Amino acid sequence: MGRTAALIVAAGRGVRAGRGGGGPKQYQTIGGSSVLGMAMGAFEMHPAVDLLQVVIHADDTELYRSAADRGGPKVLPPVTGGVTRQASVLAGLAALEAHTPDKVLIHDAARPFLTQDLVSRVIEACGDRGGAIAALPISDTLKRAGEGAVIAGTVARAGLWAAQTPQGFGFQAILAAHRAAATAGRGDFTDDAAIAEWAGLTVRLVEGTTDNMKITTADDLQRADALLGSRREMATRTGLGFDVHALVAGDHVWLGGVRIPHTHGLDGHSDADVALHALTDALLGTIGDGDIGQHFPPSDPQWKGARSIRFLEDAVRRVHQRGGRILNVDITILAEAPRVGPHREAMQAVISAALMCAPRDVGIKATTTETLGFVGRREGIAAMAVASVVLPAGRA
Ligand code: MG
Repeated sequence: MGRTAALIVAAGRGVRAGRGGGGPKQYQTIGGSSVLGMAMGAFEMHPAVDLLQVVIHADDTELYRSAADRGGPKVLPPVTGGVTRQASVLAGLAALEAHTPDKVLIHDAARPFLTQDLVSRVIEACGDRGGAIAALPISDTLKRAGEGAVIAGTVARAGLWAAQTPQGFGFQAILAAHRAAATAGRGDFTDDAAIAEWAGLTVRLVEGTTDNMKITTADDLQRADALLGSRREMATRTGLGFDVHALVAGDHVWLGGVRIPHTHGLDGHSDADVALHALTDALLGTIGDGDIGQHFPPSDPQWKGARSIRFLEDAVRRVHQRGGRILNVDITILAEAPRVGPHREAMQAVISAALMCAPRDVGIKATTTETLGFVGRREGIAAMAVASVVLPAGRA
């Protein structure tokens, strides 16, 4: 499958929404998060989005660093935009060119409420050559205003849609269209679909959501606060995992996604990574979705020798499908040997990448059992894990 990039345009100077200290609307906060940070989070969390490029205003470097930059693994350093939205999008596309994505989703920073489902549907509907945009059929009757706010006419609304973002396109196709528009001196397009239409691309309409509103005014910010309040009815859930594998002849063990040279190996159908198995079960536990043996039966030959990180990634996908977000995980490895300390950072790096969270959200601890029991007799290694996630309360 091809790579998909997201491009968020956050270079605007819109200050109409400013309350108190003012400042550009994309850096205003709703319930403690910046509008831009919320939009970024939706793409960072989406498993089909590989890269995230944000375009900011030259004056906003500090604002971006403090309000939005969480240093996630998908996020590229921000680039500076141009005078118009169109020029800013082109700057972002040019920055992404070196990463050779197949598709790009272009999104306005001022729409913080896009859902994972909407991102999925736009990606699915946009081919490699054409495009697809989120949009809503117009349901209000449309009036054309004449002089002095007197109605001059009623506009037929049949077939009319209001465009939203994200707008997804084949990357090369939209980059070529933007460059052609710039060369032709056309700087007057108000969205990327208009440029795609001008360039002759086929662009599909995907039904968006009313929540996916654009924050423009202070009123919008208040509506967003209210919406977030209802969305924030989240439930925190905890899951527990435990696993044991026997030590056998061998020269290395897999522990926490890291290959560690050792005097013995671990016996198992897969790579026998007890730490990742315990963690996978903990994550499945948060959503009540069975256990690792149910999803990856040891009787199935396709999992023979499999890297356990795949099992973990599958559990992460299941949590995300439920609208969940992983808060933190904590693993304790019970072993007389090998020593875990020297490998802790490597384990945190591998596991946090799979969980799409920060290394500091991954606890790795180890203990011996003071030579007692099967662990103490070096017959096997055990691991325990807990995981915490937040799920939308309605679906928890
Ligand atoms: Mg196991």
